[in-house]
Amino acid sequence: MQRVSRISWNFELRSAVADTFDRYIQLPGENEAGGILLGEIYPDQNLIRVVEATVPTRADRATATTWHRDTDSANKHIHRAWRDSDGRVQYIGEWHTHAQRHPRPSGRDRQTMNELVREPGLVTDWLLLAIIGQRSNYFSKWTTASEERINFQELS
Ligand SMILES: [Zn+2]
Repeated sequence: MQRVSRISWNFELRSAVADTFDRYIQLPGENEAGGILLGEIYPDQNLIRVVEATVPTRADRATATTWHRDTDSANKHIHRAWRDSDGRVQYIGEWHTHAQRHPRPSGRDRQTMNELVREPGLVTDWLLLAIIGQRSNYFSKWTTASEERINFQELS
């Protein structure tokens, strides 16, 4: 019989990350914005802490309804963060904005997450997705088999 793992993780967010999300809230007439999420994982405490959300680069491509982040600049950032933290900080997910009050992932977002979570180089078997809306945010944890809504505790 197959057993379903029921470990519940705790999710923390540095206030600087929340500030970045707030700064890029998408107003009418603006394009989507986004980046990657970098964080620390503490398996013994079932804790995942987001310590950085990168901001858009010139190589990213955005329209009012689409967001495509550049792979090379993201990979460089991931490598630098990993090296500078002696391997503590790693790539843990994606964020972008929607011009919706209460955002939901688009079909394209779901496809992207399903592809990313299957990438061979991925250290974790999950990724976080943060979609920043005008009034509320959509946070979830993706695996190859499921998507689970999550909440963050914001650190001061
Ligand atoms: Zn989206």
